[in-house]
Amino acid sequence: MSSARTCSFKLRNGTFCGRPITAKQRIFCDFHVRIHPQKVCRKEDQPFLKEYVKTDVQGFVDLSQIEFRNVEFDDLLTDSRPILFDASRFDKCSFYKCTFKDASFASHCRFDSTTFRGCTFKGGKCDFSDAAFLSDDAPFEDCTFLLEGTDQLDLTEVSFRNARAVVETSLFKDCYVRATRFAADGLHLQGRSSPGALDLVVCEAHDRLPCRMICLDTVEQIILTEMVFSGTLTYRQPSRWKDFKPVLHLMNINFDSMVSVRFFAANLQSCHFQGSSISNTEFQNCQWQREGGFRKLGGDRGAVNSNESEVQELVRLYVQLKKNFESKGDHIGAGDWHYREMESRRQLVLARHKGRFGRLRRAFSLIGLYRCVSRYGESYHRPLCWLAAVWFVFSIFYFFTGFSLGGGEIINYDWCPACGLSVSHVAHFFDAMLGSLSVMALQAGKTVEFTGFWSILASVIQLVLTAVLVPLFLLAVRRKFRR
Ligand SMILES: [Zn+2]
Repeated sequence: MSSARTCSFKLRNGTFCGRPITAKQRIFCDFHVRIHPQKVCRKEDQPFLKEYVKTDVQGFVDLSQIEFRNVEFDDLLTDSRPILFDASRFDKCSFYKCTFKDASFASHCRFDSTTFRGCTFKGGKCDFSDAAFLSDDAPFEDCTFLLEGTDQLDLTEVSFRNARAVVETSLFKDCYVRATRFAADGLHLQGRSSPGALDLVVCEAHDRLPCRMICLDTVEQIILTEMVFSGTLTYRQPSRWKDFKPVLHLMNINFDSMVSVRFFAANLQSCHFQGSSISNTEFQNCQWQREGGFRKLGGDRGAVNSNESEVQELVRLYVQLKKNFESKGDHIGAGDWHYREMESRRQLVLARHKGRFGRLRRAFSLIGLYRCVSRYGESYHRPLCWLAAVWFVFSIFYFFTGFSLGGGEIINYDWCPACGLSVSHVAHFFDAMLGSLSVMALQAGKTVEFTGFWSILASVIQLVLTAVLVPLFLLAVRRKFRR
């Protein structure tokens, strides 16, 4: 007589539940009649929950905005349909060996003493953003975030964005991520009894290392920007897998507030620390981007970096890194960061002086000269080469302007050497070189004498240049051998 009636419980997306109902007096299916109107699902409702999950009407399972109490979701969920738990609350529930597809626990889900054990998360996205965890254990143990569809890159994210967690020590224990992006930016993580620990290892699938969280070879981005955490953070990478470099977003994190931060054998070529404090962070055997033989940070685009605030931020980071490495006795690393710091400072000078006079100012800035002459005190070859050049150039000058060696005859070719090359020319030039060297050895007026105005002026200039270059050379040597 009547057409089959269906459950008219309104789901979160505006559609109705639609499961067939038989008893005429009801308007909801067995499951929805039980959770209506308080929207609370208790342990005794489990059989109905099971029945609800099994029947497929919508193509997805909507368990949004429900408060689950002591519910055991063991083996209940399979990966056939997307599962929505948006804005739901879980009190002492357990998910054991469940398989989720496109699991969404978004919109401020709350997990009180709720655990995921041996679960697998599949599909395009696994969303725990804005969730809150409160637990005596790790909420996720032995779980795998194995997202499929790696060809659609933006659909393969494990998200713990802005999640809050007060847990025993860590949010994860022996968990694996095989997604394109692991996003936990804005995560507030706090240990209950200890300050807590966050242990990230990036490695191959078969490396079953004892740690809290393993990010596998498919992870292209790890986003921990603005994370708030005070325990021990470890980021490791097995050295034989050193070429793998996920983009690490570690911006605006106060690493100095953590008990310890260690980057061990990590490939940090695409790592961004902008806005973070890294003075006490430990870097062991890490790989960095290099330019001209010196390390640099990700986000340092060299001369292309025209944004002044960006460059200023780089200067701040490089100063921190320099002090950090110096305090740990790594003077080679500290030297690299010193070079990059000065390089960024030079870029600031370049950026501030634009226009015609700016060009002049840029060309002869003190820092530019410092770079040219000794690579900011990092090179001792360069001042040595400059000293040799000064010696040689001034030899030529004295050769043509006149000098006398040890009170002997005055040699002066007066810019017009006699045609042809004779033995005496060569001998006189060697004398000029000796004279030039004498000036550099502060012997002008003693072993070598100048008579003309121009040669006297040249000797004074040569003396000044020597007085600048020799200390630069000695400083660079000292830096070198202090290491
Ligand atoms: Zn229903």
